[in-house]
Amino acid sequence: MIQWNRREFLGALGAGALLSGAPLIARGAAKGRVVVVGGGFGGAIAARYIKMADPGIAVTIIERSREYFSCPFSNKVVAGIMELDSLKYDLKAHAARGIQVVYDDVVAIDPAKRSVATAGGKQLAYDRLILAPGVELDYAAVEGATAGVETAMPHAWKAGEQTLLLRRQIEAMKDGGLFIVTVPKRPYRCPPGPYERATLVAHYLKQHKPKSKVVILDDDNTMPKQPLFLECWSKLYPGMIEWVTGNNGGKVERVDIKKHMVATSDADFPADVISFVPPQKAGAIAQKTGLTDNSGWCPVDPFTLESTRHKHIHIVGDAAYTDGVPKSAHIAGAMGRTAARAVVALLEGKSPPSPQYVNTCYTLAAPDYGFSIAGLYVPKNGVITTLPNSVTVSPTGASQYVRRTEAEFAYGWLRNIAAEAFL
Ligand SMILES: Cc1cc2nc3c(=O)[nH]c(=O)nc-3n(C[C@H](O)[C@H](O)[C@H](O)COP(=O)(O)OP(=O)(O)OC[C@H]3O[C@@H](n4cnc5c(N)ncnc54)[C@H](O)[C@@H]3O)c2cc1C
Repeated sequence: MIQWNRREFLGALGAGALLSGAPLIARGAAKGRVVVVGGGFGGAIAARYIKMADPGIAVTIIERSREYFSCPFSNKVVAGIMELDSLKYDLKAHAARGIQVVYDDVVAIDPAKRSVATAGGKQLAYDRLILAPGVELDYAAVEGATAGVETAMPHAWKAGEQTLLLRRQIEAMKDGGLFIVTVPKRPYRCPPGPYERATLVAHYLKQHKPKSKVVILDDDNTMPKQPLFLECWSKLYPGMIEWVTGNNGGKVERVDIKKHMVATSDADFPADVISFVPPQKAGAIAQKTGLTDNSGWCPVDPFTLESTRHKHIHIVGDAAYTDGVPKSAHIAGAMGRTAARAVVALLEGKSPPSPQYVNTCYTLAAPDYGFSIAGLYVPKNGVITTLPNSVTVSPTGASQYVRRTEAEFAYGWLRNIAAEAFL
């Protein structure tokens, strides 16, 4: 487990020298006030480490939902391999650590006054804000994706009721039916996620509706872990999965809810079940606060994750603009740790330590068949970028023993990151 104890975390902070003449930023509270908006993987991990590093800092986390469902492993719920309840987490452990947990919707952030307003009428002042709102699904970017599209063609890209809806639709599908999953323009949350979904749905269909087919309509022409996906499709699900790349007419241009189809430049694709995953951008509150640029994501200083748009606001997780770094829970956690160290150092008038961001991502192709990718990312030229030659992918042609072991590691990975964020 990657969790650090207080001494290790402070040791890392000690690496930063005192900023000459830097004032202590604390306003009101003895050691400063930090507000964290969003209690998903990024925000929960950031809040935990700030409180652990310095219990004198007043940490408040504001989250709109009392229950958090992990997107990692939610494709297993869609495929009937796991139950949604096993992916349910909450912030009770944070409250027990002395972090103030507020269940409310943040509706406005005032960067000049350094305060946050909630739908419930609360105003909270901060010295440093950590904003981890995740993604917003950009339905407005696709013609026809109007009211009702989420029910007709569940994205299941935020776990919870959507996950169950998609599962129920697949369970109700006839044998010989067609399931389509769409892949939006990059960057989006979890680059391998749509391909994993196609694979695990094929796993379900092979057992229960073997005459059925899966089609992936892709905006792009390559996919992450491509040789591994292609290998497992031909080994485990021969003839079941068709991948239509962007160059071959895979890019979705329109959806038609009434006809229950998606349309690309080449053809109309009616289907029995469609998981329409739309393009994405930073969570709505980040856009409303003027923290995003033309990319739709929030530009940040890669050393501290402080917004380059508004001082004293640090962006963590999927909402941050990160060049080629995948939008994953693993990276959200790494950002949570980085922002925590930066914020504690800045509140103490020290210079923040230089970060490295590690990503690990496991894919399950069947309950006993897994593979993975890992990479290292560092600040360079103002962004977080891939360290050359640092990305390692499981080899193709590995034995079933290796595949089973990777599947076991995948479950261990989820237990670790969930414990770090929520337990
Ligand atoms: C199908 C699928 C599979 C995935 N599998 C993996 C995997 O195997 N490994 C991996 O590393 N990653 C995986 N991911 C990606 C991972 O889920 C995300 O990268 C991760 O959740 C990002 O964390 P976050 O904290 O940025 O955002 P989130 O986890 O979305 O958390 C954001 C939180 O902010 C809250 N919030 C938003 N706005 C407000 C507001 N205004 N006020 C109050 N609260 C607010 C939301 O309620 C939410 O709880 C997967 C994603 C999907 C969709």
